[in-house]
Amino acid sequence: MQVKYLDLQAQYQSIKPEIDQAIQKVLDTSAYVLGPAVVQFEEDFAEYCGADFSAGVNSGTNALLLALKALDIGPGDEVVTSANTFIATVAAIVHSGARPVLVDVDPVSRNIDPILLKMAISPRTRAIMPVHLYGRMADMDPIMATAEKYNIPVIEDAAQAQGAQYKGKRAGSVGLMGAFSFYPGKNLGAYGEAGAVTTSDSELDKKVRVLRDHGSERKYYHDMIGYNARMAGIQGAVLGVKLKHLDQWTRERNRVAATYRKALKGGPVGLPDVHDDYAQVFHLYVVEAPQREKLQDYLRENGIVTLTHYPVPNHLQKALGFLNYKEGDFPVTEKLCREVVSLPTYPEMTDEQVEYVAAKIREFFGKA
Ligand SMILES: *Cc1c(COP(=O)(O)O)cnc(C)c1O
Repeated sequence: MQVKYLDLQAQYQSIKPEIDQAIQKVLDTSAYVLGPAVVQFEEDFAEYCGADFSAGVNSGTNALLLALKALDIGPGDEVVTSANTFIATVAAIVHSGARPVLVDVDPVSRNIDPILLKMAISPRTRAIMPVHLYGRMADMDPIMATAEKYNIPVIEDAAQAQGAQYKGKRAGSVGLMGAFSFYPGKNLGAYGEAGAVTTSDSELDKKVRVLRDHGSERKYYHDMIGYNARMAGIQGAVLGVKLKHLDQWTRERNRVAATYRKALKGGPVGLPDVHDDYAQVFHLYVVEAPQREKLQDYLRENGIVTLTHYPVPNHLQKALGFLNYKEGDFPVTEKLCREVVSLPTYPEMTDEQVEYVAAKIREFFGKA
């Protein structure tokens, strides 16, 4: 049996008439950048997240950067974030001019450890950026308590968590701002690059909209130096169609995750935690396995594609050497980076495929 890591083509085929029609409308009206399809998606996505506003931008990385810039964060400032994340989180902080301050994660949630986060706050801390990794929200109550105590804004990196909930609240509606990626492989994926910034603060929303469009509110009048970070019209149209299907796809992802759990419980690999406070959206189904590379080779030989999120922790990446972190600084993150394997997880995956992957994992450890 062949099991792809994900199947974007199957998803397109399942909604082809709606998508084709929505794209055709953009072509027929030449609304290539921003335009009515983006405006409609912004309204729908804000409502979906439980935020008052959402501004469409051209990537998740720029969503993070514009959120930081809307808060006037820059050189001399510190932004505290999770050590266990994709480099884009940290890169956005570096691009803002601020210094990223990394914090280790909790081994069960794999998200930022709220106690260590509190210890990392300094007089220079200007933002806290929790990451909702793999589709599970960070433990937001203690994070928000620290933020309120020190009066520091929270920007959620919700790139992997469209629709995820923490105690009934959706990602992007708990912190002051939320940043989303719609990279094609994300749970809500565009057909190109796209992102969004959510907030319920109208001033911040306005500032993000000015920043994404060269710092201009009125064409050719510039009150600040901004960016070119606007969402493309076609992406707004695609996302508008796909948002209507997101909850159904999330249910399918949860079915896949539950099937993995049932088939692998008590077995040789560490499974994602499940907890009543969290409605997870399983962007990735990440297990922890000894002999990670050998397991991945064995699965590949059996037609199963897996990935590693992430093989090298940010603090040991060459590009971030200037932060002067060293091996041993974030032991939980380092252990995860040695052991994590992302198993194929996508809505169109069948239970038979999930059970086949699980059987091959058990077989590997039976043999090993
Ligand atoms: C994908 C991702 C980003 C960046 O999003 P892009 O749209 O690729 O720029 C940021 N943070 C996390 C955690 C991500 O997974």
